[in-house]
Amino acid sequence: GLSVPIKIKEHLDDYVIGQVEAKKVLAVALYNHYKRIDKPVVKNVEIEKSNIMLIGPTGSGKTLLAKSLARIMDVPFAVADATALTEAGYVGEDVESILSRLLAAADYDLEKAKRGIVYIDEIDKIANKSESSTSGRDVSGEGVQQGLLKILEGAEVYVPVKGSRKNSSAETILFDTTHVLFICGGAFVGLREDDSVKKSKKAPKMGFLKKEDAAAERKAIEAKELISFGLIPEFIGRIPVIAELNKLSKEDLIRVLKEPKNAIIKQYEILFELDGVELEFTDEALEKIAEIAVEKDVGARGLRGIIENIMLPLQYIIPSENNLEKCRITKEYIDKESDVELKYNENSTEEPTKEIVFKKMAN
Ligand code: ADP
Repeated sequence: GLSVPIKIKEHLDDYVIGQVEAKKVLAVALYNHYKRIDKPVVKNVEIEKSNIMLIGPTGSGKTLLAKSLARIMDVPFAVADATALTEAGYVGEDVESILSRLLAAADYDLEKAKRGIVYIDEIDKIANKSESSTSGRDVSGEGVQQGLLKILEGAEVYVPVKGSRKNSSAETILFDTTHVLFICGGAFVGLREDDSVKKSKKAPKMGFLKKEDAAAERKAIEAKELISFGLIPEFIGRIPVIAELNKLSKEDLIRVLKEPKNAIIKQYEILFELDGVELEFTDEALEKIAEIAVEKDVGARGLRGIIENIMLPLQYIIPSENNLEKCRITKEYIDKESDVELKYNENSTEEPTKEIVFKKMAN
């Protein structure tokens, strides 16, 4: 059955930390979208498609949210990069390639693909910046937006069927995008910063203006701001839902490590468990990992790389240790101020591998 928005939001909580407002907006948009597929016209009122714009810094969970929505609805999902797209006839990927990918994700079941979700990343990079651009870059941005227009709204498009087992020759298939949900995402750097700079310059230092200013700060991003950023009105007109994501705080990043269904820490615990070893990260260690990620300023995106660096030497050695029971990752180990803490079976007579530099676990 059709999940109601509150349930969709709860499902999203299993995979995505924080971003409560964006989750609510998405849950409602998704609910309406699938209602619209079931009943496109009710009492002569046509329900319009609610394509979505996600605005938030890198590594805040835009792709993850889109992917999680597809998982919750059990529909095929494809990701595309707007910067790889070109106007028809130019070298690069055509807009239709996005639909080829969705078709592949649906295992070439066209009916399934037609109800899929597409995430188009870096949509801010195809903004037409000609008025402010000094580098002269980006003349094709507007052309790509034009190309995306028709598939976003819903159109019948001939899509090449590449790599299909059934269709080995260069064949095309007619793909109706009316029911495909498009989610666009971008960081839109400068969108709000410019805004606040302008405001602070303009605002006279008088007490009675303050309240109004504060309200303006919290105001949601509007279509007209995206248009002044360089997205063409027709394009923005096809994306009626706008949701904002926040930059993840250190506390959020610690939760990202531990809490989601497939949290990185949980994955490592399982990997070690399969070797018969209990893995533990101290709270200070997790905090340290989050701090390193905050410094890199790439949101949750950096977490996996940081942990992999910490864990690789251990993963190399530990499968050879027969009597190892427990391994504890401490902040001191991450800071290279101390050896890793290990606990061996007390009855063991074997010596630990020479390559491993360890400290006996205190408790
Ligand atoms: P974005 O698309 O905003 O740049 P992604 O969704 O691709 O970021 O996230 C990058 C990585 O960080 C993914 O592995 C994802 O699992 C993780 N991540 C990002 N944001 C969150 C979040 N809010 N909750 C849980 N994991 C997150």
